[in-house]
Amino acid sequence: MYLSGKVGVVTGASRGIGGAVARAFAASGADVMINYVSRAQDALTVAADVEAMGRRAVLFQADVSRPEEANRLVENALSSFGRLDILVNNAGITRDALLLRMKDEDWEAVVNVNLTGAFNCTRAAARSMIKARWGRIINISSVIGLMGNAGQANYAAAKAGLIGFTKAAARELGPRNITVNAVAPGFIRTEMTAGLSDAVKERLSERVILGRLGEPEEVADAVVFLAGDAARYITGQVLSVDGGMVL
Ligand code: NAP
Repeated sequence: MYLSGKVGVVTGASRGIGGAVARAFAASGADVMINYVSRAQDALTVAADVEAMGRRAVLFQADVSRPEEANRLVENALSSFGRLDILVNNAGITRDALLLRMKDEDWEAVVNVNLTGAFNCTRAAARSMIKARWGRIINISSVIGLMGNAGQANYAAAKAGLIGFTKAAARELGPRNITVNAVAPGFIRTEMTAGLSDAVKERLSERVILGRLGEPEEVADAVVFLAGDAARYITGQVLSVDGGMVL
């Protein structure tokens, strides 16, 4: 079992990529804290799957964009499991609009959840990882953070910011045996992409060299790799899981 004995906190784990990461962690032997913000029923379904694999699952409702809630998420993980080895900053939202029409609140909401949320959780979790002299932090960025996308200035800025954050945190935390990496998914089949117009879906699909959308489980496999021992000498990197979309 690749992650045997480890405890992972996955933000936004009630569905999509986060749900797949929680299940993949359990399948690899880790116990999981499943964070969600509004969809408790979906989070319960993921928890049931984790428990069916013989691992412990704890649910925790928290809006990661709020520092006090991110702190409580980490405190609860530590009190429930007694340790916190892996943090996956996966919670994310989109609020698409062309630049000239983008509202202040759309900019702020996307930056606050996707970027500030990762900072809030990392700051909260790093303390115990530093004490343990072991930790893995994996930030779910996006190919949009690497290449930009019309109509997603807020999301592209947040996801590019997350890559800069990953590199800075990797430099700070590396000497304490904590690795920090980013995964940049491409076009993955989740609710986030289900809402895109057919024209946008077609435009994005055309760029994928493997010729199909990705599945959440395919992103989760990369996260599991980075979370375990095989990735112990990898830090500050961005791993694209995008079927060759960004070459
Ligand atoms: P999704 O299906 O829309 O799920 C989003 C998850 O984030 C849900 O679990 C949601 O919780 C949670 N969430 C939203 N706001 C939150 C907040 N303020 N605090 C805590 N949790 C919050 O999205 P997804 O497609 O799986 O995306 C997951 C991550 O991958 C995101 O960071 C996204 O930007 C990134 N990504 C996705 C794609 C793609 O093609 N799908 C591509 C590149 C990157 P509730 O269920 O409670 O609402």
